[in-house]
Amino acid sequence: MRDGAVVFEGGRVAEVGNAADIRRRHAQAHHIHLVNRAIVPGLINAHAHLELSHLRAEDLPHDTFVQWVVGLRAMMRGGGVDPAASALEGARQSVRFGVTHIGDISRSCRATRGALRQGPARITSFGEALGLARLRPNFEDGLPGALDDSSQSDLLRIGLSPHSPYTVDLAGYRQCLELSRERGIPLATHLAEVPQEREFLIEQSGPLRGLWDQIGLWSDPVETFKGSPLEMARAIGLLEYPTLLAHVNDCTEEELAWLKQGNASVVYCPRTHAYFNRPAHPWRRMMELGINVAAGTDSCASSPDLNLLAELRLLHQQSPDVPVKRIWHMGTINAARALRCDGGQIAPGGPADLVAFNVQGDDPLTEILENNLIPNRVWIGGTIIPPQSPQ
Ligand SMILES: [Zn+2]
Repeated sequence: MRDGAVVFEGGRVAEVGNAADIRRRHAQAHHIHLVNRAIVPGLINAHAHLELSHLRAEDLPHDTFVQWVVGLRAMMRGGGVDPAASALEGARQSVRFGVTHIGDISRSCRATRGALRQGPARITSFGEALGLARLRPNFEDGLPGALDDSSQSDLLRIGLSPHSPYTVDLAGYRQCLELSRERGIPLATHLAEVPQEREFLIEQSGPLRGLWDQIGLWSDPVETFKGSPLEMARAIGLLEYPTLLAHVNDCTEEELAWLKQGNASVVYCPRTHAYFNRPAHPWRRMMELGINVAAGTDSCASSPDLNLLAELRLLHQQSPDVPVKRIWHMGTINAARALRCDGGQIAPGGPADLVAFNVQGDDPLTEILENNLIPNRVWIGGTIIPPQSPQ
């Protein structure tokens, strides 16, 4: 909309329309006059791990996924990291890039929720649960913390995240789904990230089983499932629930049809995908079928930073024929749907989460993506978030 205006009150958008009309109707309101700016909805990063924001992807081996997991585990066990400080820095960095809501997966959720509950960004904090074989007790022990909602605030709400099919058994997945359904909270998981998940599920063999043997924590029996990760997800009801599925890199046309029939969303993390040098992701086919696809950054352990615009920019570069608006949807309205939250659009009743960019031309959405722009003003709940320098 050219010469547009947004009215907000009490943290929510009250009206959107032509600036002259709005100024007339709201003469008493406090006016902020912006020239040569585009105002877009606050960006929503549907998948991140803020507690890993102190890491640098280039420091981790990543010729294979298993190498990377082993490297990350060693780095985390090395200690010396404060998950709360790391998460807060990640949230601050996100806001600098115009991200106003983050779907954050957290293993140290007591610490990270405490640090993030007062902002600066909105957070859906998915408490991560994992542990099978000899680590199975960790799964049970981790659930109460993951579900602890005592840190909820105006800006932070909780969700639950069973980690992946190679770290959570079927009973664990069923339990997480049941708990999420009972409490009506968002549910997220990593699914079909690598093709090796299939052989791991079917007969507990292959590189992912090798990972367990390498760390010396495998023990039988662990329940198998005679099918792919998506077949498993479908069998236990994960596709029927509005589950957020991170990655879904590896899937067949038949599996896409199940996604189409279900309520789950997919989150694609383009720069992480490139970091692991993976074959092309089926996001365009998914969108064609009407599957909800959002964009995410994943963590700083596999991506250069938490700049969601850089993820959208990469999609635009790789697929210039996809309308720019649809790419923006992946970081706004589709991401809101994936997180089951308000926002991702500037509409009456929605949160006043807005981002302003300096622009010159008539096509700001393309201009922002093609010129590495970063925002010059960010509002969350109608409040301007001051620029926060990196620590
Ligand atoms: Zn992830």
